[in-house]
Amino acid sequence: MVIFSTIKETKNFLLRLKKEGKTIGFVPTMGALHAGHISLLERAKNENDIVVASIFVNPLQFNDKKDLEKYPRTLAKDAEKLKLAHCDVLFAPTSTEMYPSPPPPKKGDSALTSGSPPSGLPEAGSVALEGAFDLDNLDKVMEGQHRPGHFQGVCVVVKRLFEIIEPDKAYFGEKDFQQLTIIRHMVKTLRMPVKIVPCPTLREADGLAMSSRNTLLGPDERKNAPLIYATLQKSKEEWKNGRMGLHELKKWVENQISSNPFLKLEYFEVADSETLQPVTDHRSPDVDCRAFIAVKAGAVRLIDNIPM
Ligand code: AMP
Repeated sequence: MVIFSTIKETKNFLLRLKKEGKTIGFVPTMGALHAGHISLLERAKNENDIVVASIFVNPLQFNDKKDLEKYPRTLAKDAEKLKLAHCDVLFAPTSTEMYPSPPPPKKGDSALTSGSPPSGLPEAGSVALEGAFDLDNLDKVMEGQHRPGHFQGVCVVVKRLFEIIEPDKAYFGEKDFQQLTIIRHMVKTLRMPVKIVPCPTLREADGLAMSSRNTLLGPDERKNAPLIYATLQKSKEEWKNGRMGLHELKKWVENQISSNPFLKLEYFEVADSETLQPVTDHRSPDVDCRAFIAVKAGAVRLIDNIPM
């Protein structure tokens, strides 16, 4: 595996391989790798000649400075894991490599086409980023509502990474289902020549969705966090048997989570899998729905979702 920190080296290296006709699979990550990330890499390895992973903790998608500061960073260990999984290229840039100060915008420049963040290293929610990508209200609900600017920051970094790597296929986890939907939308509207491949959520033996943030959980929080997935599963059962209306179901979930002293519910929604708009009642069985949940376990924010 080769490791690059600059865009130039990465582009040059990949250009040579592309000229040889090799296909490129890409797995963008923020590091602190776990088996969920590796499952994406293995899928990419099976479907492409060359696999590129990136590790970049993107400041633009953090709306909370503390969250950014405490995000786990384990680059040396991550590189070992990637090597073991037969990754070919690791791209691990610095923030200034990804976001050099851009020249002042010219009249008529649009962030929709340039994807440029403003100078310095602004956080998600900065005014300049708001509305940069038209995400058709996909970013107005759930994570978007609770983390202002988050998805604009995600789009800026993913677009930039796609322009650097120019992959044939890119792999995203259903664990972040709203992100996956938004990336698909961005790629479609900007007509980017990359196929987005969704990958299933990997879980710990007790059901907790694997996440880099799980390493930040205290012992009590970790012990109680599996209640999140258990509650999602139970809510699916209730949704299917129709004994509870949506309002009751939401109340029941709120009770389940918040009666646990280590967990606090941020939101629970049943939403249309395509538009991500929360449903207001039991729709016809033909509408494909998913349940989405965000829970605070102490200071750590955990998200999960399942098909309903
Ligand atoms: P992150 O490093 O958290 O930005 O995640 C990088 C990629 O891995 C994203 O596409 C995530 O959706 C995906 N991912 C994170 N956790 C899991 C998981 N438990 N199972 C499958 N994919 C995951």
